[in-house]
Amino acid sequence: MQSPIATERLLATTDHLIRPDQNLSDRQQPWIHPRLIQSVDPIKGRQLRVSQPVKKGELLLVDLPYALIPVVDHPDQSDDVRCSNPACHRRVARTVERVSCLNRCSADVVWCNSSCRDADNLRHEFECTWLKKYANSIRSKWGEYDFGMLWLIVRILASRDVEFRNTPSSDKTSGSKTGSDSKPSSFETGWNAIRSFCGSQDSWTHSQVRHWTMLVKKYLRNSQSLPHGLTSSEVLDLICQEEANSFGLYPRETGAFPLPELAVDRGEQFAAGVYPTAALANHSCSPNIIHKPDDQSRMVFVASKDIATGEECCISYFDLSKKVELKDRRDHLQGSFRFVCKCDRCVSEEPPEGDSLEEELQWDEFPSMDAF
Ligand SMILES: [Zn+2]
Ligand SMILES: [Zn+2]
Ligand SMILES: [Zn+2]
Repeated sequence: MQSPIATERLLATTDHLIRPDQNLSDRQQPWIHPRLIQSVDPIKGRQLRVSQPVKKGELLLVDLPYALIPVVDHPDQSDDVRCSNPACHRRVARTVERVSCLNRCSADVVWCNSSCRDADNLRHEFECTWLKKYANSIRSKWGEYDFGMLWLIVRILASRDVEFRNTPSSDKTSGSKTGSDSKPSSFETGWNAIRSFCGSQDSWTHSQVRHWTMLVKKYLRNSQSLPHGLTSSEVLDLICQEEANSFGLYPRETGAFPLPELAVDRGEQFAAGVYPTAALANHSCSPNIIHKPDDQSRMVFVASKDIATGEECCISYFDLSKKVELKDRRDHLQGSFRFVCKCDRCVSEEPPEGDSLEEELQWDEFPSMDAF
């Protein structure tokens, strides 16, 4: 049985494993385990696998967010906002060094210091006018969730804008460049990766799509204050993809399974982000990977079990300690991610067909089965 301490130790090994790479703290490229590969399953679509065995505790991925937004209640009083500069994204406590936007666009936009702000000038300029114009009204009219979703889309568009400025025009539609030590053959990067995310208008309910269509028309149209050059339908597609693929960032790891005896939840969400490579991981309710953001908001995947050649690498899309019963897990995944979970654990917990009532009674009679 895995204790919380054991899980902590497992993640602690990432420091040990990544230390040999001296440039890691400043690197702006994902780090991908040489045995981690991408493949396509006829039913599940794209997925992550290993080409050769990987041992429990091995670091598999350190992915950089393409876009990230802070999710905190009172940013001006919070020590938990992240620096807006994508090359930094560190936690910014309230210190004398911390700076806001000179244009006072939003209290959520902070940087560690003025150097981080200056270095982020080009990217922030893209979102600044939009935030100043809409942040308050979207929040009061549609609430935090819709505001966060729209802002994350704007930040994706801002990163795309910076990427295009830095990329010669002939390269824009072909695969963008990858670092010499990453996996150039199979992993897309940047905007190309975002565009290839799963999730389309068909995966969401009509009422959901109608609501997003309205939000796009009102707030995300190509305009002088948001010059992205995409059609409203392309922006809507981007929302459908973002909603199916974005990560919540929590202080503690997600996906320890079997659940530790004294299971601790993963804590309060402090940010949401879009990760080009991490987004390829499918869900399992008994995952073989645990994930957690590091101190620069990079998404870190660590093998929580030995993984055999060819085996799929899965994460958990939610806090396993919070949704234990089969029905809770499936309802949540269906509602938030639009699929019925058929992972090994869910299938093994399914009541025999046409026998569900009897099965539930049996479960009550045999408390030892709760251990599943
Ligand atoms: Zn910073
Ligand atoms: Zn600003
Ligand atoms: Zn499942």
